[in-house]
Formats: sequence, C-alpha cells, structure tokens
Amino acid sequence: MLTLDLRSDTLTKPSTGMREAMYAAPLGDDVFGEDPTVNALELKIATLFGKEAALFCPSGTMTNQIAIRLHTGPQKEVICHQHSHIYLYEGGGIMANSMASVKLLTGDLGKITASQVAESINPDDVHAPETTLVSLENTMNKGGGSIYTLDEVRPIQALCQEKGLKLHLDGARLFNALVETGDAPAAWGNLFDTISICLSKGLGCPIGSVLLGSKVDIKRARKVRKVFGGGMRQAGFLAAAGIYALDHQVARLKEDHQRARTLGEFLVKAPHVVEVLPVATNIVIARLEGISPEAYLQALISKGIKGVKFGKDLVRFVTHLDFVDDHLEEFGKQISRS
Ligand SMILES: *Cc1c(COP(=O)(O)O)cnc(C)c1O
Repeated sequence: MLTLDLRSDTLTKPSTGMREAMYAAPLGDDVFGEDPTVNALELKIATLFGKEAALFCPSGTMTNQIAIRLHTGPQKEVICHQHSHIYLYEGGGIMANSMASVKLLTGDLGKITASQVAESINPDDVHAPETTLVSLENTMNKGGGSIYTLDEVRPIQALCQEKGLKLHLDGARLFNALVETGDAPAAWGNLFDTISICLSKGLGCPIGSVLLGSKVDIKRARKVRKVFGGGMRQAGFLAAAGIYALDHQVARLKEDHQRARTLGEFLVKAPHVVEVLPVATNIVIARLEGISPEAYLQALISKGIKGVKFGKDLVRFVTHLDFVDDHLEEFGKQISRS
C-alpha cells in the first residue's frame, strides 16, 4: 500500500539532482574554515538576505539556540509567543544553553504584536530579569503555517531598536512565507539581527540550517557552535544540498501550498473534522470531534496516511517535495471514508 507520510516536511529524501550535487562537491575542513562548498553556501544565502555573514549548522534547533545564546544569558529574558518552537520544542534550551528566562505571549495564529511586546518589556528593576531579545517565528508552525507580513514586523523592529532589544527570527520555513507574499528576502534580512533558516524542511535537504547575521555576531556564533558540538569537518557534502535547494527547490514550494489548500478542503468535508485552520502555506491543522487524535491517526494509518497529534483535539498534516498530485488524489479518496 502507498503510504502518504504527512507527519512533517522533514521526511523528504534528496532528489537525484541534489544527490549528484552532493557527490560532486569540493570539500575541505570547515572547522578550519576551508570547506569551499560550505563557504559558498554561507556567502550565497547571506547575500540573498542582505546580511553580512552566515553559519551552516546541523539543525534549526542549533541555529536558534546559538542566536538565543548570543542575545541573552543568565538573568536575561526573551519575549516570544507561547507556542514558539524555541520554547516548546527545543528541549528547554533557553534555560539549559543560555540560563535565560522567557516571557510567553498569546496571540492569534501564533503571532504577537508590537503593543504586546511593549507591555512585556521588564522595567529596570532589581526584581526583574533584563529583557534583551524578542523572537518571532515565520511561518508559524503552531499557527498552522501562518505568515507574518512585513507591516506586522516593522513596528516590532522599531520598538526593539528604540528599546535596545535584539530581534531574532526563527525562519525555519521563511521561504514558504516568501514564495507566498513575494517579499524580497533582503526586506526580511533588514529587519532582524539574526535569522535561522532550515534547509531540511520544505527545501528538501537531508540535513542543515543556517544562521544569518552581522560579521561580528556570526564570528561569535561560530564559537558557540563549536561548544555546542556543531563544528563539522567535510560538511560541503551537506552544504552542496543547500546550494542545490536554493537554486532549484524554492519556487516549487508554491506547489506544496496549493496541495495543502486542497488537502484542507478534503479534510473539512471528512468525518470527525469540525474545523480546519486557515491554510496559509504547507501546514494543515484540523480540529476533531468525537474521536481522540490518537484514535483518528491510528485509523488513518490503516488507510496509508500519516499525520501527527498537534494538541488535545488537533492533528497536523504537512505537504512537501515528495507529496505529489497522485498522492493528493489518493488522500482525498481515503480521508472521505475515515
Ligand atoms: C523544524 C523547526 C525548527 C528546527 O528544527 P530542527 O529539527 O532542529 O532542525 C525550528 N523552528 C521551527 C518553527 C521548526 O518547524
């Protein structure tokens, strides 16, 4: 039986073209700064976003955690949405890696506003941790792949600048947002001190994320990466996949979004589904009634469909490079009978 694995967009396998690019990559020792392919990837993506420098890392957790380490520390505080990946899904790293405190905000579709941030900056008071960082997520995973607009971010950036706070973007799926909005990457690069981008999600690489920032920040980040155990040697194999993805697998993200919208339409009509969150990109979140997510997902497995539980009555499906139109049609057939 065909298995439609929609648990995540991390499940893709490198395409033939990507494998060929990996095989052919010139290599060196990246801890010595001598891997030409890693250097080329870092330069390429930094330039694209109008940032001075970039750092290739094994995971998006590492790039986020390095940024948090750069911008916080003991007795400092980061402001973010309560459903942020940096808080929920990075193993308590804000505390474990940076010994920092976190202030969690609420907001529709996983997004926060400048006025909420303004109210959440701690006073200069002996009792309070010092607020030093605001972190946003775009697209917002828990918000159903929701998108921040530049107009929503600009006032947050202006506030951070005024108050001397750093601004970080968890842009694990930033390219998904960019292909939808048509925003120039540099417009985003311009607003943030640091940006983390995953190559291993919709872009279809086997491994890798990049952290973008100023020369000074990325030099410091390189040291933090080393102490986190993320200094890799002939990593050009992996960086070559990233370069290939940037050249060949960005525009096609639009197809994932189109399929996600259709998938959402199938789900709305399916038994047990009472609501589908607005589908902005490649993430589809459905609310169930009369059945637990566990039981629902178990029943789907026998129909060849895999998703994940995403809350007490929620399930999530993510479209990706290896989910094509035939699969979508099959999903529609199977889900209507669930
Ligand atoms: C996947 C993801 C990350 C990083 O995850 P890794 O698995 O460590 O690469 C960070 N933020 C968001 C929103 C993500 O979806």
